[in-house]
Amino acid sequence: MSVPILLYHHIDEAPKRGTPARSIWVKPARFAGQMKVLKALGFQGLSLRQAIPYIKGEKKGKIAVITFDDGAMSVYQQAMPVLDRLGFTATCFFVAGYIGGGNDWDRPPRKTARLMGAAEMRDWAARGHEAGGHTLTHPHLPALPPVEAQKEIIDSKQRLEEIFGFPLLSFAYPYGEENPLMRNFVREAGYNYAVTTTRGQAGVTDDILALPRHSIRRNDSLMQFLLKCLFRKKG
Ligand SMILES: [Zn+2]
Repeated sequence: MSVPILLYHHIDEAPKRGTPARSIWVKPARFAGQMKVLKALGFQGLSLRQAIPYIKGEKKGKIAVITFDDGAMSVYQQAMPVLDRLGFTATCFFVAGYIGGGNDWDRPPRKTARLMGAAEMRDWAARGHEAGGHTLTHPHLPALPPVEAQKEIIDSKQRLEEIFGFPLLSFAYPYGEENPLMRNFVREAGYNYAVTTTRGQAGVTDDILALPRHSIRRNDSLMQFLLKCLFRKKG
């Protein structure tokens, strides 16, 4: 069975024209519409952790995995109430060194968005949603000296687990950038699953430490959104 894993970042009004990466802001009403259509079509929205048996082919069902990278406050404020109303769960990947801060790790910086603090993160998990790791400082992992990349993966897991009080199972590579060494570091750190930004549906033949995702963009029409959910497309 092939399973769509959807990737979102910010669920908020878009920043002004010309802002880098403006396409990763999806309007709240549009996000809510997308989730409602999934529900109407009989999809169950699931966190990555809960979807693994479907991806491995051990369970059958019409599911879509919903993931958010970076831990934006807008995910807590705008996306979570929609998910909770529909009975969907999702995974949010947090940057351990920027908790309660802004997403200003890029050079030059993108538009800064507020990120969840520890209280919102714990509430996210308490409502049945999954928390995953997304490194300490959101670096380009394969470009770092290996020992530093490994530290980013291990230290962030420990720091996040101190906040949540339970082990994290899922990881997202910043910018989707990874290689076999990074997959090893992620596995050795104790993560069971990891996601990239390679396009396509996830299935039994995929490496569980490099699962593909469909990035949902600001301007995606409902038809484009549904095509990403319904059809296997690689590349
Ligand atoms: Zn990210």
